[in-house]
Amino acid sequence: MLAIKRNIWALFFLILSGGVALLGFNLYSRWQTVLSDHESYQKARAKLVAQSVDSVLRTQELVLDVVGRELLRQEDIWSRSRRIPLLDSILRADPSLIGFGLARPNGKLVRVSSNLDLSILPNLRTHPETREGFAQALESDSMVLGRTYFMDALGSWVIPIRKALRSPEGDVVAVMTAGLQIGSGPTVFDQTLHDGPDDAVILFREADGYVQFMSQEGVGPEQFSEIRIPEDRKLSNRRSFEKQLNMPFEDVFASKEAVSVRMQRDGHDVLMAGVFNKRYQLWVLSETKMAPVHREFARSFLGYFLAYVAVSSVLFLLFRVIDRTERKRHQQLMFQSRHDDLTGLLNRAGLMDRVEYLISKDRPFGLVVVNIDNFRGINDRFGEEYGDKTLQQFSQRLWQMLESSDDLARLGGDEFAVLTRNVDLQALEKACISLVHQMADTVEVERLQLQVTASVGVVIYPDHGDSFSDLIRGAHLAVYEAKKNRNSACVYLKEMEMAYLRRLTIEQRLRYGLALEAPYMVYQPQVDEKGQTVALESLVRWQDEELGFVSPAEFVAVAEQSGLMVPLGHYVLKRSIREFSELRSDLGDHLDLAVNISVIQFTQPDFVDSVLSVLAKHGVPPRHLVLEITETLFMYNFARVLNTLERLRAEGIRVSMDDFGTGYSSLSLLRQLPIDELKIDKSFVDHILDDEKARNMIESIIAIARNHNMELIAEGVELEDQVNALLHMGCRRFQGYYFSKPQSMAQIRDALSAEVI
Ligand code: C2E
Ligand code: MG
Ligand code: MG
Repeated sequence: MLAIKRNIWALFFLILSGGVALLGFNLYSRWQTVLSDHESYQKARAKLVAQSVDSVLRTQELVLDVVGRELLRQEDIWSRSRRIPLLDSILRADPSLIGFGLARPNGKLVRVSSNLDLSILPNLRTHPETREGFAQALESDSMVLGRTYFMDALGSWVIPIRKALRSPEGDVVAVMTAGLQIGSGPTVFDQTLHDGPDDAVILFREADGYVQFMSQEGVGPEQFSEIRIPEDRKLSNRRSFEKQLNMPFEDVFASKEAVSVRMQRDGHDVLMAGVFNKRYQLWVLSETKMAPVHREFARSFLGYFLAYVAVSSVLFLLFRVIDRTERKRHQQLMFQSRHDDLTGLLNRAGLMDRVEYLISKDRPFGLVVVNIDNFRGINDRFGEEYGDKTLQQFSQRLWQMLESSDDLARLGGDEFAVLTRNVDLQALEKACISLVHQMADTVEVERLQLQVTASVGVVIYPDHGDSFSDLIRGAHLAVYEAKKNRNSACVYLKEMEMAYLRRLTIEQRLRYGLALEAPYMVYQPQVDEKGQTVALESLVRWQDEELGFVSPAEFVAVAEQSGLMVPLGHYVLKRSIREFSELRSDLGDHLDLAVNISVIQFTQPDFVDSVLSVLAKHGVPPRHLVLEITETLFMYNFARVLNTLERLRAEGIRVSMDDFGTGYSSLSLLRQLPIDELKIDKSFVDHILDDEKARNMIESIIAIARNHNMELIAEGVELEDQVNALLHMGCRRFQGYYFSKPQSMAQIRDALSAEVI
């Protein structure tokens, strides 16, 4: 069960770990998605800005080219005074241009748009801000961008663009120059291109590493125009590009598509996408710090995590409910498997657990087995339901008699066990005897007062055994001993093992002996007041090869306990009737035969039929047969016993109540049962001369016999004085050594032949 309990939590943790793995996988793919979204966004923006910049610059290059050539066609181009309306109209048409000029190759501006004052403009070839760009323009065939700078003449930040105009021979005739406006509005160099504080769009010049343009929160041309990417940084950036993109940098230069990488910039982790414009040697970069990417991912993470926590919590609650139910069920099952349904007491397994626990701790204890006397009789007479109630009542009474530290268990059927810490053997024996006496008080079951007695066997750990089975066996042997006297207590003794072994041996030998028809019959005469033999009681004898002579009292008891009684009884019946029939053929039919019948035999369903068939086989009339039964018969199912008795009577077979007065007597039952004869037990006859109680008992028995019209016989008569006393009281038939001991049929035949003569 522990395994199941563990399993359910193992399953929970398995699901939980599965959940963690799933969460990890989801987060990973979410991270990839967020990253690739941002990359795509940056790439798209870089490409878009790059395309716009390229297209603007190409347009401007065309404009410069066309305008320049137009100007050069004019003959008086170098004359100072002329205004050039074309320049102004272009300026008006293209708001991204904020100034125009035409310079000689020596750097001197000769024509400018009318928003500029030519007289204050510096020489482009010598002015530090323009010098480099101008020189490049002289060298290049295409338009050249100069460093972004503040143009005092216009009072604004501009990106200078210059294009050399050449003669057909290729000599530079003039340089067209213009300023591209930086700021907001209808220009590609819009300072609101970036998206939030962590975002930037940067254009920087490949040639000198200066930033051409930048759109970033809090950064204006004053700042970015000064920024220059140092050569070593450029190199390390290139290496980083090559490594991340896994392509040579030349391919990056050549690529028309934007590429994206992650790198460190100014202490920040940034995601950057870039496109290189080869024509204008310009990098267009679109970048974001990783913080917003992280933030977005963190939001997803939180969502996933909360979902995971929620699902896990629900699962946890579910598993806890399952676990608790399981545990409860397990406890119930455990309880059921360790307790008895009927009484709620511990059962055998429950007791075994405790006993084994105490043994494992080597703590001494006493084990008391309590067995109800003749419980089967109660069940048979009143039904099982009543029997169950009796057991419940009995267990309650037993419970009340125990110490609080004692354990009480029902071992099954009519057997209980007390586990006690009391190991003082004398005290325990005393307690058990008082227990036995208290139990003998009547119990009330459904308004019926019932005397339930019990026999008790006691063992002590470790003195009498060191395992549960040894101790229980010892206790059972003690109970068996106690049963002999009924309602008594016995402490286990080593000798009981011997008795047990003897019972076992008797059982085995008897089984064998019966098969060989070893038991034989002797007969004891029953005489009338004149000493004439009127009947013979058949008594079984057994001389075993190994065991020697075994008394019938001993082996009949063993047979009754071992299932041998029915075959033995049948054997006795057959043999007695056969021998009796032989005697009858010699001596005539004035004699009766009395056969002892065990209750077990008597209660067999085919008993009457088997008796009748044996009688018929040997030609003995049923009226010559007397069956001796004992009072224990009263404890069995009344209806069934009555039925058997009535059938016997109907056939003419008589029934004698043997050992009357020693056992369980119920006068009311006796009245209802068709009994023909009472047999006064030897124990009363023994004391008839010296004990008034015995005399009173005999008088009562005689009165009962008279009242119920029964025959009367006294057994165990050994003395003449006993005969006289019995005669005096009104008994007319006797059996005992005084008249004759039990004898073989041959001896009986001789004796009776003499008697007849
Ligand atoms: P029981 O049926 O009461 O038999 C009478 C017993 O008393 C016999 O003992 C008999 O030998 C003995 N007895 C008779 N007169 C005297 C006497 O004057 N003095 C003394 N001391 N004893 C006397 P036994 O044969 O040892 O039988 C003992 C018991 O064994 C019987 O008691 C009976 O219950 C049982 N038993 C014997 N034979 C059979 C049998 O064939 N079938 C059954 N079911 N039980 C039998
Ligand atoms: Mg008898
Ligand atoms: Mg008897």
